[in-house]
Amino acid sequence: MDIHIIDKTFVPFISAAKINERVSELAATINRDYAGKKPLVIGILNGSFIFAADLFRLLTIEAEISFIKLASYKGTSSTGNVVTAIGMEENLKDRHVIIVEDIIDTGKTLHAFMPEIMNRQPASVKIATFLSKPDALKYDVKADYCAFEIENKFVLGYGMDYDGLGRNIPELYVLKEN
Ligand code: 5GP
Repeated sequence: MDIHIIDKTFVPFISAAKINERVSELAATINRDYAGKKPLVIGILNGSFIFAADLFRLLTIEAEISFIKLASYKGTSSTGNVVTAIGMEENLKDRHVIIVEDIIDTGKTLHAFMPEIMNRQPASVKIATFLSKPDALKYDVKADYCAFEIENKFVLGYGMDYDGLGRNIPELYVLKEN
C-alpha cells in the first residue's frame, strides 16, 4: 500500500522479512570477522538507530555500542567542510570500531568524519551501512558491510525520514515517481 507523507507518495520497496534476512547475514559475518575482538559499534544518529539496534541484537560476540550525532560546519579554506561528532565520549585508542550508518549517498558525511575517527588511533575501523547508492557516490568511501545497494532514489522507513517523518515504518519505501 502506498504511503502519503506531507506532499509525497512512497511505494513499498524492501519488505521487513527481506530486511531481517540481510541484517541477519551481516550480523553473522561480523560475528565471524570479530570473534575474540570486542568491537565498539558507533551508530550515527538519527537515521541508523533502527538498523544499529537490529544488527547489534544479533551480535553474539562481546561488543559495545554508542551513538553519536554529526554536525557539519564550514572549516577554513584548507580544511574545507568539517564534520564533528557530538557525544563521542568513548576512548577509541586501540579499539576495533564499527561505524554504523543508515545510508551512504554521496559519501560526503563519512568522508568528512573519517579523519576525526582516525585521529583517535583506533586499532581498526570498518563501516557497516544499511544502504548504499553506488550511482550517487562522489567521495572515496567504501562500506565493508552493506545490506542493500540501491538505485539513486529517495527512500524512507526503517529509521530513515522525510522531513522528520516515516522513521517508524518497519519496511523500506521509495519515492513514487510521477
Ligand atoms: P551522504 O553524506 O552520503 O551524501 O549522505 C548521507 C546521509 O544523507 C544519510 O545518512 C541520510 O541521513 C541522508 N540520505 C541520503 N539518501 C537518503 C534517502 O534516500 N532517504 C533518506 N531518508 N535519507 C537519505
